[in-house]
Amino acid sequence: MQHQDKLFASAEDAACRIEALRREIEHHSYQYYALDAPEISDAAFDSLMRELREMEAAHPELIVPTSPTQRVGGYVGEQFASVAHEQRMYSLDNAMNLDELDEWIAGVHKALGHFPELCLELKIDGSSIALTYEQGNLVRAATRGDGVTGEDVTLNMRTVADVPLRLREHAFEGLVEPGAALELRGEVYMPKKSFDALNAAAERAGKQQFANPRNAAAGSVRQKDPMVTASRNLSTFMYAIADQRALKVRSQWELLEWLRRAGLHVNPDVTRAKTLEEVHEFCTKQIERRQDLPYEIDGVVVKVNSFTEQTVLGFTSRAPKWAIAFKFPPEEKTTVMHDITVQVGRTGVLTPVAELEPVVVAGSTVSRATLHNAEEVHRKDVRIGDTVIVRKAGDVIPEVLGPVLSLRPENALVWQPPTVCPSCGSPVVTDPEEVALRCVSIDCPAQAFERLRHWASRQAMDIEGMGNEIIRRLVELGRLNDVADYYSLTEDELAHLATNRSDGEGEPVKLGHTVAAKLVAALEASKGRSFARVLNGLGMRHVGKNTAVALARAYPSMEAIMDASEEQLARVEGVGDVVAHSIATFLRTPDNVSVIERLQRAGVNMAATQEDLGDGLPQTLSGLTFVLTGTLVESGMSRDQAAERLSALGAKVTNSVSKKTSYVIAGEAAGSKYDKAVKLGVPVLDEAQLLELLETGQPPVTEPATQADPQ
Ligand code: NAD
Repeated sequence: MQHQDKLFASAEDAACRIEALRREIEHHSYQYYALDAPEISDAAFDSLMRELREMEAAHPELIVPTSPTQRVGGYVGEQFASVAHEQRMYSLDNAMNLDELDEWIAGVHKALGHFPELCLELKIDGSSIALTYEQGNLVRAATRGDGVTGEDVTLNMRTVADVPLRLREHAFEGLVEPGAALELRGEVYMPKKSFDALNAAAERAGKQQFANPRNAAAGSVRQKDPMVTASRNLSTFMYAIADQRALKVRSQWELLEWLRRAGLHVNPDVTRAKTLEEVHEFCTKQIERRQDLPYEIDGVVVKVNSFTEQTVLGFTSRAPKWAIAFKFPPEEKTTVMHDITVQVGRTGVLTPVAELEPVVVAGSTVSRATLHNAEEVHRKDVRIGDTVIVRKAGDVIPEVLGPVLSLRPENALVWQPPTVCPSCGSPVVTDPEEVALRCVSIDCPAQAFERLRHWASRQAMDIEGMGNEIIRRLVELGRLNDVADYYSLTEDELAHLATNRSDGEGEPVKLGHTVAAKLVAALEASKGRSFARVLNGLGMRHVGKNTAVALARAYPSMEAIMDASEEQLARVEGVGDVVAHSIATFLRTPDNVSVIERLQRAGVNMAATQEDLGDGLPQTLSGLTFVLTGTLVESGMSRDQAAERLSALGAKVTNSVSKKTSYVIAGEAAGSKYDKAVKLGVPVLDEAQLLELLETGQPPVTEPATQADPQ
């Protein structure tokens, strides 16, 4: 706020700015709500709103009832009959980060005199809808409009498959007055799959595409022809009732249960929280799993659970005071791309990387982002000096989506793909079967570094303490050229190794004897790792963790694999022709054979261990396929560890759910895999059942999961 005051010293300046902001916001609201065609991102729109709110707070005398801050954003189109909402439909106030959320909770705590029980729901990124039922029959559907008046979209909403035209008998038990009219509220949304299909069809037909699933849902509900709405595969999640007094329920939680019993579609991901920690945990978990859900969410709605307490808190002119939307950090930002460099992967693939002005995206600072390959750079037409849109979603590597052409400087440079490897100077080749450029030199230090890093990594030989900086120094000194060199390192030379500090400041420091002794012990321990880890660690193209496990089972020693023909290898489950060719090529290359021989001489395990073969345990789960999703909490096991233990009992663990999946194990905050299991009727086990299964070796007798199962 101080910032605003400094900028607008005189009240006149402030009034001008406020007016300009209001006009700008009104324009974008019209584009968004009336035309379903936003011109700017939601984050940009929100920052305009925020600025206006701050300016008005500093100059309350300039607030007028028509200001966008004082009312619900929306639009009532002329092609529909208008509907006066019996009770106003509100928007929500926002908390842009956890601190703001805590502040809001503290305010509620103070107003009520105690920490409230909160009901936490996903904020579905769709369009508000009100469904009115009389005598249990759907009689009207209306959009939110401006909150007071909405549009009658009954015919369209009748085509949405999960909207019941009649409430189930159960519903009537919960009514105060049987037969009374009920206005139920929720969100109509477009699942990601329907959105992709819709936009793909629009592209084929040369029509304009929707900006996002939310605008597509709003646009689809407001169609003249209900058949068009029907073709859009919309869904709903219901979460509110206009007049709480109509029901015998006392809280948001009970309301959701009643809605579910009445036959409405209710989102299963809800929880109640009694502490800040519980609130934070739920909110942060949703940010992580947002990508896995089959529909878009843009936050978590935190509501005071008790209806009595909600009444005490009341409403402002645009939003309830008993609820707030915790908005996720934006996943897309713009920033300047200073350069494009080339990174060499362990198999020699050259990847162009954007060097960016650091920017915080989705909660973390991004200064480099992948541009995938040279063809992509060309296709997206990103040039050095451009302002680019960067996207970081969940755990996904940040990527550059494209340039902002209106901000392109005159001297922006077109990038030229390298003709030689930036690490070793060898000529670059293009593989005719793929788009990637590749360095095929066996002596390339960048590839060596990546291979060495992969060998030491947690999913391969798990050499604790062998970090990037140590590896980099050893490569520079010529002490590490291939993975077998690890096992000739001595404690003494490691103790004297000078590495740069992690902050890059000051003089390099020597590792010292304590660290060196630990590294040598870690190297020693790695010699006994499972055969599958060794196979994975070698970094053969196309051979990841799962293929390595299958290979170690089928051919339980290095000798056996080397003796196998390409055709035999191709028959191993999950291998196939391409992978078999890659394995055979790797194992017939003399340099690789010599590395394997040196590893063997150093004492590195080259045959299947009990772990590879299933720990000698009875293979009671053989023939069963498992998929793991969500986070395992009680046992502290990672998903990988759980998968290893299941494999040890003979189970097959895969990544995607299909009809052939025997069980899905759902930890906390399970995502789309859980939903798919429900859809396909695949039984779902929780963590307690997983632990029991690992203990007894016997899968429980289960019923297929149902949509109503809360997670
Ligand atoms: P909102 O979408 O931020 O939040 C309120 C709405 O959330 C409610 O009306 C309800 O429909 C919905 N919601 C979803 N799940 C819910 C749940 N579980 N419980 C309760 N409500 C739930 O607010 P808004 O007023 O509808 O719209 C403002 C949003 O629209 C902002 O995010 C803004 O960025 C965007 N917008 C963008 C532009 C643009 O030009 N890009 C223009 C106008 C508005």
